[in-house]
Amino acid sequence: MIAPGETIGILGGGQLGRMLAMAAARLGYRCHIYAPEDHSVAAEVSAAHTQAAFDYAAGLSAFAADCAVVTYEFENVPVAPLAALGEVPVFPHPRALETAQDRLNEKTFVTELGGTPAPFAPVDSPEDLRAAIAKIGTPGILKTRRDGYDGKGQWRIMSPEDAEGLDLPDQPLIYEGFVHFSAEFSVILCRGQDGEIRYFDSAHNRHEDGILALSTVPAPAAITAQVPAARELAAKVADALDYVGVLTLEFFATEAGPVFNEMAPRVHNSGHWTIEGAVTCQFENHIRAICGLPLGSTELAADAVEMRNLIGEDANDWAEILKDPANHLHLYGKGDVRPGRKMGHVTRLTFD
Ligand code: AMP
Repeated sequence: MIAPGETIGILGGGQLGRMLAMAAARLGYRCHIYAPEDHSVAAEVSAAHTQAAFDYAAGLSAFAADCAVVTYEFENVPVAPLAALGEVPVFPHPRALETAQDRLNEKTFVTELGGTPAPFAPVDSPEDLRAAIAKIGTPGILKTRRDGYDGKGQWRIMSPEDAEGLDLPDQPLIYEGFVHFSAEFSVILCRGQDGEIRYFDSAHNRHEDGILALSTVPAPAAITAQVPAARELAAKVADALDYVGVLTLEFFATEAGPVFNEMAPRVHNSGHWTIEGAVTCQFENHIRAICGLPLGSTELAADAVEMRNLIGEDANDWAEILKDPANHLHLYGKGDVRPGRKMGHVTRLTFD
């Protein structure tokens, strides 16, 4: 067990790291942020900060020497250089990163565990794309296998003609059949070092332009009916990876049952509502898990909870948002407002 007062290392310096560090501080831990960017919003609320590249071995080993445990808030941390962390425990195990960093790997892995993703095929050339479209059909979505997020690195293909003359990026791709879904939801679970799993309620997630806009709980029946099967799959994924910490799987609710979209080996935007809306939030439970503490209750703390993201200019409305005393405003301290940038979120609890 890693006791309060010890230092937790976090790889990645964004808002997820910031909220993890705030939860860790509440429990009396120090956090040390390791991130390459100039301005880390996680470092601003943490005890220590190393600004260095993720593949800088000397930086990683000095960081590890200061930490009792290391975790990550960014799923594109390169895996091979993590060997420089040496003996310090890393939770979740980096094999979760390896699986989740590549859409082809994660879909193959989940399929082997009995999950159902959209039909998919790897694409490394225009010929592959033609063959994938012939096999899977249109409409479909072409995605980069790595480094995509918030709908970036994606091209919708409505007809085979759309694919002709497409300027393919010089990186491995995957073509997926388009899923006709009634709603999107996520399963967020926390697995302890003893294998105990606790699930948060599944939120109904609404996206705009490929970016999460709104998460609400309780979710409608179209989702809750599919949550048990989705949880069963998520538990198999967590067990297969001997996972420690918070794990997120995103799903489409379809007539044929839950269709797996993607996984994130970390706390997730669709779980931000848990800060006020659950007895123990996703950030605190992640910290508890990686430190070997008992997990906290994931029960709802209200009858209904709504979390709305503040994207780009939305954050300029902070003064207006604060006029409603029921709003819980979270701003990530990012400075520059840019279109599509996640600047903060607002949570509202309601009681019947
Ligand atoms: P992703 O980055 O893969 O999570 O995609 C971002 C969003 O695009 C998802 O949340 C969906 O709203 C939509 N999307 C992604 N893949 C598909 C698909 N195969 N069929 C339908 N919609 C999709």
